[in-house]
Amino acid sequence: MKKIILLILVILTAFGLVIYLGKNKQNSQMQEQNNNPPQNIPESNDSEKFSSPIDRWSERITKKPFGIYISPNSSPIQPEHFSGYHTGSDFEIFPDEEDKDVEIKTVCSGKLLEKRYVSGYGGTIVQQCEFENQDITVLYGHLKLSSIGININQQIFAGDKIGILGKGFSSETDGERKHLHISIHKGTNINLAGYVQNSGQLSNWIDIVKYID
Ligand SMILES: [Zn+2]
Repeated sequence: MKKIILLILVILTAFGLVIYLGKNKQNSQMQEQNNNPPQNIPESNDSEKFSSPIDRWSERITKKPFGIYISPNSSPIQPEHFSGYHTGSDFEIFPDEEDKDVEIKTVCSGKLLEKRYVSGYGGTIVQQCEFENQDITVLYGHLKLSSIGININQQIFAGDKIGILGKGFSSETDGERKHLHISIHKGTNINLAGYVQNSGQLSNWIDIVKYID
């Protein structure tokens, strides 16, 4: 009888030990998991930000968002001369801004690379910056060239005033409606393209709207 009780005790103890060890292992696995950095961090949270190029940017209807495919037939803007995937984001004016000065500001800090008339944009500047430790160039299109006081190679800082939007349907905007086109191209090479012909090429560009502070 004593032997049987002893045997039962031994079995119970062994059983308990197995459960205990099993739980311990689970705990240490969970701790390990907790020590690993979380995966799939959303882009918006911890990433670097751009300053807003225009006041109340998020209230402005974007008729042509980044990446939209445009053709003369399908474009939300008529008449349309362009076709392809939009490399930039457009910020529209409010109805009462047609004849007002609409101030444009720099979105990042870096020197001015270009300031000139560009076909398709009218008054244009291109700025060099760094974003998340990579070189980028930022193009601001449809500006009134004579309002821009900054010179080539001059260092400008995020939030600095650049100038104002060009007058709609004039040479200042190269005949386009009054609005801001802003595009961000990866690398140091200036790329003036407002559209690319296949969607894969969009990976060379950054959608500023995702990153405005
Ligand atoms: Zn545009």
